[in-house]
Amino acid sequence: MSASTSTPKPAAPFLPFTRPTIDDETIAGVCEVLRSGWITSGPKVKEFEARLSAYFGGRPVRAFNSGTCTMEIALRIAGIGPGHEVITTPLSWVATSNVVLEVGARPVFVDIDPVTRNIDLSRIEAAITPATRAIIPVDLAGLPVDRDYLYAIAKKYNLRVIEDAAQSFGASWRGKLIGSFGDFVSFSFHPNKNVTTIEGGCLVLNNEAEAKLAEQYRLQGVVRSGMDGMEVELVGGKFNLTDVAARVGLGQIAQVDAFTTRRRELAKLYFEKLSTLSARSAGLRLPVADFEQCNWHMFQVILPEEKLTIKRAVVMEKFHTLGIGVGVHYPAIHLFALYRRLGWKDGDFPNAEYAGRNILTLPLFPTMHDSDVTRVVDALVSILQVHHKS
Ligand SMILES: *Cc1c(COP(=O)(O)O)cnc(C)c1O
Repeated sequence: MSASTSTPKPAAPFLPFTRPTIDDETIAGVCEVLRSGWITSGPKVKEFEARLSAYFGGRPVRAFNSGTCTMEIALRIAGIGPGHEVITTPLSWVATSNVVLEVGARPVFVDIDPVTRNIDLSRIEAAITPATRAIIPVDLAGLPVDRDYLYAIAKKYNLRVIEDAAQSFGASWRGKLIGSFGDFVSFSFHPNKNVTTIEGGCLVLNNEAEAKLAEQYRLQGVVRSGMDGMEVELVGGKFNLTDVAARVGLGQIAQVDAFTTRRRELAKLYFEKLSTLSARSAGLRLPVADFEQCNWHMFQVILPEEKLTIKRAVVMEKFHTLGIGVGVHYPAIHLFALYRRLGWKDGDFPNAEYAGRNILTLPLFPTMHDSDVTRVVDALVSILQVHHKS
């Protein structure tokens, strides 16, 4: 093996596609919680929930240990289970549809709009049957699904909506923050998301009755009353967030506006750099240039597979060789083995399949430098030029 001798050295430190930003104030706060004697769910979770509720205009919010269980719990509160169908997108993190299977219902996929990469709302009505109970839209990369159109369909057919807003914390629709209106809104605080608690999530609910149910599903169905009262009325799980995690989240909420501003600046810079070069003529598809509503959770391009001599995996390897991390978010869900076993096949959702094969997430995170964008774009252009079909 002599391949290693020909591998070029990266010119700069490795640039990951994302990186959490944890400031010293947050680290000091976490140390305080660790020293306090109360480290799991307690006063910091309550404070975090109150802070989130204020952020979302006073709606009830409950925190959990993932952005997956939040959606599962929303489905349970809505009474969705066996015999029911839930409409969603095939281009998302697989959690989006796994939770539907988890409660015993059936996901019904509707293809994406190739421009927004979100569920194509104009195709939803054709997918509605008497068994349909809910829609789970996803704001991929933080670009909001059209909420007016979405809720008009939900109202017309009397459907619940569980917004999978895992990627759209801080994004808005017509001047209103995602989470501040609508039906159930679910967020994830995974480290890759714009706001993190290491692992965690929260669910925005409609009223206190739903919030009480969410608390029961969160922890073994337990209801406590008075000094010595405990009752169990339903099967709940073990989905509570820790106070340590909640303290991380409090430090993140304090910075989220700054994060979003910086992400938008970097996204703008990507457009500037990408517009001046042959990337356009190479057939690269750029995201929607929305700097008002989108929180720029990710900057994703779609490679022109018909014009390239190499597949995405090779493009990714070339980026890595240049010291740049890139990601895939996501392969089309319906083509995973589990979903094929349930009956889906190639060709069912051509737009999602094309995106699933060719979408590529470029580095974007608040502490990235302007010069990093130049470095990524230069790498992308050189890879596309060298491997373009003549
Ligand atoms: C991250 C994510 C989830 C799941 O969140 P976890 O906190 O990892 O459970 C769900 N849907 C989408 C679109 C996501 O990006």
